Amino acid sequence: MLYPQEFDVIVVGGGHAGTEAALAAARMGCKTLLLSHNIETLGQMSCNPSIGGIGKGHLVKEVDALGGAMALATDEGGIQFRILNSSKGPAVRATRAQADRILYKAAIRRMLENQPNLWLFQQAVDDLMVEGDRVVGAVTQVGIRFRSRTVVLTAGTFLDGKIHVGLQNYAAGRAGDPPAVSLSARLKELKLPQGRLKTGTPPRLDGRTIDFSQCTEQPGDGVPGGMNPEGGVPVFSFMGNAGMHPQQVPCWITHTNERTHEIIRSGFDRSPMFTGKIEGVGPRYCPSVEDKINRFADKDSHQIFLEPEGLTTNEYYPNGISTSLPFDIQYDLVRSMKGLENCHILRPGYAIEYDYFDPRALKNSFETRQINGLFFAGQINGTTGYEEAAAQGLFAGINAALQCRGETAWTPARDQAYLGVLVDDLVTQGVTEPYRMFTSRAEFRLQLREDNADVRLTEAGRQMGLVDDARWDAFSRKRDAVSRETERLKSTWVNPRNLPAEESVRVLGKAIEHEHNLFDLLRRPNVSYQALMSLDEGRMASADVSRETLGELSATVIEQVEIAAKYSGYIDRQKGEVERAAFYEHLRLPESLDYMQVSALSIEARQKLAKHRPETLGQASRISGITPASVSLLLIHLKKGG
Ligand code: FAD
Repeated sequence: MLYPQEFDVIVVGGGHAGTEAALAAARMGCKTLLLSHNIETLGQMSCNPSIGGIGKGHLVKEVDALGGAMALATDEGGIQFRILNSSKGPAVRATRAQADRILYKAAIRRMLENQPNLWLFQQAVDDLMVEGDRVVGAVTQVGIRFRSRTVVLTAGTFLDGKIHVGLQNYAAGRAGDPPAVSLSARLKELKLPQGRLKTGTPPRLDGRTIDFSQCTEQPGDGVPGGMNPEGGVPVFSFMGNAGMHPQQVPCWITHTNERTHEIIRSGFDRSPMFTGKIEGVGPRYCPSVEDKINRFADKDSHQIFLEPEGLTTNEYYPNGISTSLPFDIQYDLVRSMKGLENCHILRPGYAIEYDYFDPRALKNSFETRQINGLFFAGQINGTTGYEEAAAQGLFAGINAALQCRGETAWTPARDQAYLGVLVDDLVTQGVTEPYRMFTSRAEFRLQLREDNADVRLTEAGRQMGLVDDARWDAFSRKRDAVSRETERLKSTWVNPRNLPAEESVRVLGKAIEHEHNLFDLLRRPNVSYQALMSLDEGRMASADVSRETLGELSATVIEQVEIAAKYSGYIDRQKGEVERAAFYEHLRLPESLDYMQVSALSIEARQKLAKHRPETLGQASRISGITPASVSLLLIHLKKGG
């Protein structure tokens, strides 16, 4: 049957990428259809019930700044929040939350069901409708044909998915869900370049059988016993507040020991990884426990976090023992740890192998180069992680919608967003293992902080139609308050004549010799905003904007003013670097350029450029094997009019 309605955007897959893609396209006014295997699993966390962390939290804040769902759903479902690296610089501080997976999923589903322009439909997609070099729709398992102008494919770990537990294996998309076999075959037929990757998950534990008295409690932040108990529980979304959080609960810590490691080693001969049953490459930064014991043989213990899966379940996620060893080994290894001696396993751990598609075959917009209108996002592009998937989904949803509106694609630059880094890394370098975000991937990370994601992206989001009035008003108020307070500090002067030495030492650490404005004083490493505000107003030359007219400033406004002052030197230097790099970064390479004829380049460089066809000189410079010398030669060739 041909479905009577036509859509602008069809999103296939309702995981973290698909839900953000569908919401974004619909927010931008496109008639959008989300087709997924099962409406009950929309927004499901396949693995650990946690959102954020270093690099990942940055992506969540960016998704949020563009009006996305992940941060708000985490605020509604988060049962423990922490700020990681809180004692380090603001660039690497990151929010992480433990989520109640049921509450999280419910929040995502509610947002989807209430989004204007968005239709949901439960069916497996088995085929794509392609006419010439353009996708024109999708066909479901029972033969319903949905026509659309664009399709965003976000099939996660489902394409030809195969689960391994020991030497046993079976076809599945993840535990309890079917694989997408027909769709995988169709994509192979379309000759889109692909490969196999794998990822794994630990066994889940019944909390009633854990002896928590033998484990170390790890409370979240902002609660008694946790970090910063007075500061309140952290919040993820710009539009969120701690009042949205449900009850907060602790995590627990136990450890592996020599006995655990012996048990794990005794299963190596039945490990699908070590016996070659699994061909896909796994994430190096998220290794299975057998991989850790094998690679770091000298370590006699590893920390294992016992993370609650929710408020209405006894299930615990033991973070650190992801494994595909046979179940008898899983059973023994779990019971070898302190506090877990009598533990009941609710679900076995497993590894899953699946198809991914080489993201170098995507344009900067995530549209496939081969088939117009077909976009890929999420795990299908070789990444791992909910946050990486959500950011890509939002991005692909935006670009599918822009294409439907006849507008040019939007790609944030590497100095504008982690999203820009993610997209650029994927399309220029591809992946050799599941890709996850780290702050170290961003060369301009001083500018790419969690705390300024709104400043970097909300305006762009508003222009594209992603940001609603409530968010825009809140953002504008904050932006104006930061700028007014910064101006006030810059135009408020303190003169040593009016400031007794003891007062100066109390607030500034030492006496000042000449007049300073408050902003300059705030740049000093040991001077806090609060300390400056404790200066008696009578000691200062009057400012254009008095403190009274500003009213009570929020903590986030003060944080921005303080960061701008403390890091202004570094940030200005980095801005200079960005500007210098920008010319080359954005210099577009002609589509007609025949690299094989650029004789100054080595044959290897010519072949690589011809294969990847970078869109800008900046992208060319990041292709592996393209040296700075090759980039200079290419530039000379372009200047000569080549
Ligand atoms: P998914 O969340 O997988 O969602 C895909 C969606 O598409 C599903 O709703 C599915 O039903 C639907 N779908 C697929 N094919 C079709 C079709 N043909 N028709 C209709 N619907 C379809 N991440 C980490 O960061 N760390 C980890 O340690 C980690 N371990 C993992 C372990 C396992 C076993 C699994 C399965 C995943 C793990 N992940 C981990 C990855 C994390 O779950 C994914 O990165 C993330 O969920 C990817 O989001 P996605 O939207 O791309 O895909």
